[in-house]
Amino acid sequence: MRYALPVKNKHILLTALFWLLLAVPTAQGQSDPILRNEISLNFPNDATFRLELDPDAAIIDAVLTYDVERASCLEAEAQVPVDVNGAALEWTWVMSRSGNPPPGAVLWWEWTLTDADGNQLATPRQTVTLTDDRFPWQTIEAEGVRLHWYRGDEVGPLLLDAAVAGLAQLEADMGIVLQNEVNLFIYGSAEDMREAVLYIQDWAGGVAFSEYNTILMGVPPNIAADWGTRTVRHELAHLVIGQFGQSCVGGHRPTWLNEGLAVYAEGEPDAGTLADIESGIADNRFEPVRSLNGAFPAHGDAAGMAYSQSYSLVNYLLTYYGEAKMQTLLLTLADGHGYDAALEQVYGFNVDGLETAWRAAINAPSRQIPPTPTPLVAAAVPTAVPLGAPVSLPTPETAAAAPSAEPERPSSDICGLGLIPLALLGGLSWRKRNEEDTKGNAE
Ligand SMILES: [Zn+2]
Repeated sequence: MRYALPVKNKHILLTALFWLLLAVPTAQGQSDPILRNEISLNFPNDATFRLELDPDAAIIDAVLTYDVERASCLEAEAQVPVDVNGAALEWTWVMSRSGNPPPGAVLWWEWTLTDADGNQLATPRQTVTLTDDRFPWQTIEAEGVRLHWYRGDEVGPLLLDAAVAGLAQLEADMGIVLQNEVNLFIYGSAEDMREAVLYIQDWAGGVAFSEYNTILMGVPPNIAADWGTRTVRHELAHLVIGQFGQSCVGGHRPTWLNEGLAVYAEGEPDAGTLADIESGIADNRFEPVRSLNGAFPAHGDAAGMAYSQSYSLVNYLLTYYGEAKMQTLLLTLADGHGYDAALEQVYGFNVDGLETAWRAAINAPSRQIPPTPTPLVAAAVPTAVPLGAPVSLPTPETAAAAPSAEPERPSSDICGLGLIPLALLGGLSWRKRNEEDTKGNAE
C-alpha cells in the first residue's frame, strides 16, 4: 500500500472537480426529481438501495456510490451504474461477495443522476447504521467503550468493567490508549454470533474487526465471569495495539509480540501461564523465540506454552525497558522494518539477542543460538483488504486451549489464530486457558 497516498489524493482531486461540475445545474433551481431515496437492510446478507424518480424528470443515467465508514489505508468506495428503467431504480449490494461489515458499522450512499439535457444532480449523502435485529440488544457505555448484549442481565456490566479495566491497564503499563470508541457486541452464544458474520469458521467464538473498532463475541452467561472477562481484555488489547501500530506500508508484528501483549493485557497471569513458565525454566521447554515470530504450534501443550512464553517475553521487555521503548518498537515495526532490525534499533539486540537476555533475566537455561539467522519475514507485501472483511481471525468459542496457527499479518491486524475445532477440544484435558484470539484474517 505504498501508493495509498497518491491514490487517495487523486480521489480527493477528482471528487473536488466532480462537485464543481455538479454545482452548476443544481444551482439553476430545477425541481427535485427524487420522490423516495431509501435503503433496506437484510443483515448480514445484503442491502438494497431504492430510488423513486419523478417520471417527468427524464433521468437517463444513474450512478450509485456507497461505502462503509472505517479506518483504512485505502479509499474503497464503490461506484455502480444502475439501469434507469422507468421511475424506480434499485440495486442490491450482496455482501456474500465481499464479506459483511459488523453490526454498528455505518453505511453511506449517494446517487448521481443525469437527465436528457446532460444536467447532473447528486443526492445528499445519507447514512444508515447496520444492525443485527434478531436480538433485543441492551447497551451500556463507559468512556471509549459501548457494549451491547442481550442475554444475562449481569453479563453486560461485568464485561464492560473488564473492558474498562483492560483499557486502563493498557494505558498505565504501555501508555497506549484507545483512539476511537470501540463497540462490543456480546452475543448469547457462539452460534448466534457466527450467524452475524458470513463465512466465519464454524468453531469461532469471537471475531474482531479492527478497521471498524468492533469486536463480536459469543459469551454464554455461565462463562462470562471467567472466559468472558479475560477474552474481552485480550481482544481489546489486539484492537488497541492494532490501531496504535497500524501500518499502511505492510509493516508486521511478530506473533509473540501480538499475543504476548494481549495475554499481558488480560491482567495478572493465570495459574496455567505461571505453571508453563515455571516448567519452561525447570524443564528447558521454551521454544526458540525466532520460531514464535510466525505461526504458533497448532495443537496441545505447545500452543499454550507459546502464549505463556510470549507473555513472559513481553513482560520482560516492559519490566526492564519500559513503555516508551515498547511504543517505539510498535511504531518502528509499523514503519515496515523487519523484526531483527526493529529490535536492534530500539533495544540494541535482535530476536536472538532478545532470547539470550530474556533467558538470563528469568533464570532459564541458556540456549546455543546458531549464527546468521535467516529472517522469517521477507519484504512485507501489502494486502488489499476486501470491503467488510473481518480484521480478525475468530476466537474459539471455548475457554479451552487455543491452539493456533497464526499467520503473519500486516500490523494493522490484530492477530490471527487458526484454532482447532471445538469438537477436537472436547476430549482434551487441557488446562483451561482463557486465550483466544481474534484476529487476523480474512484480509
Ligand atoms: Zn490473541
